[in-house]
Amino acid sequence: MTTVSLPKTNKYGFYEIRMESIGGMGANLAGKILSEAVILGMGFNGASFASYGSEKKGTPVKANVRICPGDQEIRINEPVREPHLLVIFHEGVAKNVPVMAGVQDDAVIVINSTKDPDEVRDMLKVAGGTICCIDAIGISMEEKVKLNTVMLGAACKTMDFLDPKYIKNAIEHTIGKKYPKLLAPNLKAFDRGYNELNCKEFKPDGTYSVQPFAITKNVWGYENQATGGTIIEFGNSVQKDMSASREGIIPLFHPDRCTHCGQCETVCPDFCWVFEDGDDGKGGTKSFNKGVEYRYCKGCLRCVEACPVGKGDDTAKAITAEVESEHDVAALSVHHKEWNIQLGDAS
Ligand code: SF4
Ligand code: SF4
Repeated sequence: MTTVSLPKTNKYGFYEIRMESIGGMGANLAGKILSEAVILGMGFNGASFASYGSEKKGTPVKANVRICPGDQEIRINEPVREPHLLVIFHEGVAKNVPVMAGVQDDAVIVINSTKDPDEVRDMLKVAGGTICCIDAIGISMEEKVKLNTVMLGAACKTMDFLDPKYIKNAIEHTIGKKYPKLLAPNLKAFDRGYNELNCKEFKPDGTYSVQPFAITKNVWGYENQATGGTIIEFGNSVQKDMSASREGIIPLFHPDRCTHCGQCETVCPDFCWVFEDGDDGKGGTKSFNKGVEYRYCKGCLRCVEACPVGKGDDTAKAITAEVESEHDVAALSVHHKEWNIQLGDAS
């Protein structure tokens, strides 16, 4: 059994971690690796479980980790309400999910962001605690791995009781066994997450308040859904915003290079491209590409592949793949005129 003790615990004796992520980013696996490290490596007891929607990719995911001394039993299976450590895998999750719910003013928040801790504090309205930022997307792109090992490295840095060698062992055991070629880049990504974390502590100064924990209620349920669960409004999602499904890369439209051929529109699975009729200059009409409705874009980048203009030359392409955080997506977004239907009463 370990002689290391937990830095703080709740009234039930647990140190608790909540990971807020998007399906496909590997938060569930990160939680499992973390638990394996503390239980098998360090002799703590622990539990790890995740909750997610029906789609495997693109929907919000929560991974919960509970750690306690090795001789303590775990009889609680509910989601983590007041995490000591909150790990946010993607800034976009905060737009649709109340990630700060239940986070107290002495918690540690690790976020995948190119922003600095002051900017993140204002973005998330953090009452107090320590905010740590890591450019996990940038590192994962450079190392050509998923960003979960970067986030694990960053999270590990904030937990003094946790020896990184045990997490590395668990990564070796989990990823190395299945994908041996990916082991070295994942370990490097872990080290970079650990070493490149930028943290700042904020005293609770009244700027923002702690947001109480609440169970999120769905807009539609058994009492008001349409017959058969049919979605009766096209181009629709509850929030009308799929931005949290993107993994940091967007298609960027260059209208001056576009020939309005419509290939992007044909391959897009979510009708994101906006075409409008206009004068063709020959006395007739023609459909013109106006750009992307980013609210529905999940960042699959099929349109980038399909566009025939400027193949092989990034400076001549009509659509390029760009890092989302470097662009003002709200300002770039073009809206479908006929899609401005608001969510109605589905009963
Ligand atoms: S595929 Fe390329 S050239 Fe064709 S309409 Fe789309 S952006 Fe324009
Ligand atoms: S990346 Fe392109 S094809 Fe994919 S959803 Fe967005 S606009 Fe559509």
